[in-house]
Amino acid sequence: MGADLERVLITEAEILVRLDELAGEIWHDYEGRDLLLVGVLKGAVMVMSDFMRALPGTAPMDWMAISSYGSGTKSSGVVRILKDLDTDITGKHVLIVEDIVDSGLTLSWIRANLESRSAASVEIMTLLRKPDAAKVTVDVRYVGFDIPNEFVVGYGLDYDEKYRNLRDVGTLAPHVYA
Ligand code: IMP
Repeated sequence: MGADLERVLITEAEILVRLDELAGEIWHDYEGRDLLLVGVLKGAVMVMSDFMRALPGTAPMDWMAISSYGSGTKSSGVVRILKDLDTDITGKHVLIVEDIVDSGLTLSWIRANLESRSAASVEIMTLLRKPDAAKVTVDVRYVGFDIPNEFVVGYGLDYDEKYRNLRDVGTLAPHVYA
């Protein structure tokens, strides 16, 4: 499987160090507030798991599943809820925990959707951000790493449901797409 990778962009060790920093910063920012972590399935599974264990205290989590990429590498912009939250978020401070922001279409939709449910606040943390995200007016409060405009896999990110279990984040070799 590792042979399908062309280049490692970010190692697991680098990710863990950065998540530790973000966890400290976020814990401080949300001190005394009712924080709820909301993950977006399935890509954010690894980020959520490492991020929440890096928090100095405890916070509940909930999950949403939405349709996004299908099996290609371009965002469709079509968003559909496949699994909704179990929690009533009225009055809660929601932090969306994401793996990657590319066009930002998915996130701006999710954020608007959660805001419409009377959350006290809705902010976004993403492990990775691509340059195109800057073109959309989605305010991402916490960013792990800014990466080039390339399709990446690993650490939860997939290509056609594969490679999520790679520990590092990297680009795929051209033969994979052939
Ligand atoms: P956006 O709507 O263009 O911001 O895309 C968001 C979603 O597309 C992410 O949550 C990922 O599921 C997927 N995605 C975007 N870029 C990549 C990538 O480089 N690798 C794997 N999935 C990606």
